[in-house]
Order: sequence, then C-alpha cells, then structure tokens
Amino acid sequence: MTEIAFRLGLRNRFRGLTQREGLLIHGPAGWAEWSPFAEYTYPEIGNWWRATWEASQLGFPSPVRDRIPVNVTVPALGPQAAFDLVAASGCTTAKVKVAEPGQVEGDDLARVEAVRAALGSAGRIRVDANGAWSVDDALRRLRQLNRFELEYAEQPCATATELAQLRRQLARRGVAVLIAADESIRRAGDPEQVVALEAADVAVLKVQPLGGVRRCLELADRLGLPVVVSSALESSVGLAAGVALAAALPELPYACGLNTATMFTTDVTDEPLVAEAGHIVVRPVVVSGSGWQADAETTDAWRARRDGLPESLRRNGE
Ligand SMILES: [Mg+2]
Repeated sequence: MTEIAFRLGLRNRFRGLTQREGLLIHGPAGWAEWSPFAEYTYPEIGNWWRATWEASQLGFPSPVRDRIPVNVTVPALGPQAAFDLVAASGCTTAKVKVAEPGQVEGDDLARVEAVRAALGSAGRIRVDANGAWSVDDALRRLRQLNRFELEYAEQPCATATELAQLRRQLARRGVAVLIAADESIRRAGDPEQVVALEAADVAVLKVQPLGGVRRCLELADRLGLPVVVSSALESSVGLAAGVALAAALPELPYACGLNTATMFTTDVTDEPLVAEAGHIVVRPVVVSGSGWQADAETTDAWRARRDGLPESLRRNGE
C-alpha cells in the first residue's frame, strides 16, 4: 500500500490555516485521502478513516448523474470584489459568508446585493453564518437579507434547538427563508436530532466527517431532507468522494459546495477536480506530479496518527 502525505498551500487563510495537510493512500479501489484537521482526535477522526478505508478498499457506489452543479463561495469581501468573483465563476449559485467577525450588518447586505447583481434574478444565493447569530439576530438579519431572495440560510444559529426556534418564528412572521443544517449535522453527533426537532429544510453532508459515501447515502435516506454535499477542504482526491456522493444521491436539487480545489495554490494531480461552467464532471482522480508531497517526517507523523486508531477500524473500516 502506497502512502504519501501531502501539503497544499491555500490562496487565502481558511479556518486559520495557510496550508492543508493529509495522507494519500492507494488501495485496491484507487486513491483515497485521510485529512482530519489537526485539532481533531479519536473517536471523531475514526469517521474520517472510515471514509478513507471505503474509498481505497471498496470504491464508490454507481453514479446516477455525470456532472454536479456547484456553488461559488464568496468570503467576507467588499461588494466590488464579491461581484467580480461571482461574475467570473461561471456558477449560477453563490454561497455568501455572512456574520464574519469584524464586519457589520451593512457589510453583509452590501455583499449579498452585489452578488445578486452579478448573478441576475435567475441566480441562487445562500448565506452561511457558521452558527454566529442568536435566534433574534437571525430573524432580523434574514428578514433584511431576504430582500435579495435567499435560497436558504446555512447554520444561522449554533444549535439544532435554536434552528428549530428560528424556523418556527420565520414561518410565524411569513419570512420565506429555508434553513440548512451544517455544523449541527456534522459535529453535533446526532443528525437525527435535526429532524426530530424539525430544525432544518436542507442537510449539508460532508463525506469524511460522516464516515464515507455509503454512510452518507444511508443518513440522507434516514433524514429524508434534500442534501447539499460539501467538502472538508480536501485535495482533489478527497473531493472525488464528495463528488461520488453527489453523483449517487437519488435527488440533487441544490448546487454542491465542492468547488474548493480552487482555494489551493497546487493540487495532488495535474487535473484538479474543479468546475467548468458551474459543474464538476464525475470522474476518477489520478495522482500525479510531486510538488505537493510533504517531507518524510510529515508522512511519518500522519502514519503515526493513523496507527493510533483501533486495529479493526484501521484494517476493516469498522
Ligand atoms: Mg457551512
């Protein structure tokens, strides 16, 4: 089994990172990526390994579509830069980051307004607050932002309980904004709670944190909500698993958050999995080149991290 650590530069700081590291593994089914963030520990990183084991040993379920619509992600930019980014993207859906520290309400409104201007009336705009708002803040902000017609608001509040309250209050006030759950599904440990509380209209699923493509398909079925597949900032090898999930879901009513290879200065392949005309083509990723390879010590460190997992999980993915 071939194992090589990678280290990719990020064009802009993301989650406090300037570089993204992980381990690439080649198994009977092809290349797979294991890249839990540095601060994550077992048992959480066990799920990430289940996804890696699946990709390297089993490969992916059969696709039902051959290309995946994706969104352009708009960070906390000024209006002109946001407009330019969206206009150049080729995407008809934009995900706009809002509620970033150091910004005020007017900044978010100006950015969303610029994105609406760039997309035109047929484009779709979703906002992502990463759980930053209280229920009252979210109510007020979403009412304002919905002037630009939001497709949905992703994780406007931190907890599933708050999302449920917000949904009820939006409905009571006649504000038609759908709610998507991201962090509440990924790290809360109980995605079913989101459904039990009627906390969301849309579920954001990420393959590595949730333990693989097959587990995500089962989870999507159990949740009974429309799914948006997003990346965990993987290299093109890891992204291929997200693309495989998006390709295998019975329904895919929304654009996915998978065009994140564009955030790196390099990739683990000469043919990165990036969108053209707003779509990523479903295809295997072949590792090539060497500029992405981390040094031997980094590879050893990643192996040691992996070797800390329970043996049956390491060997059998369970
Ligand atoms: Mg999110």
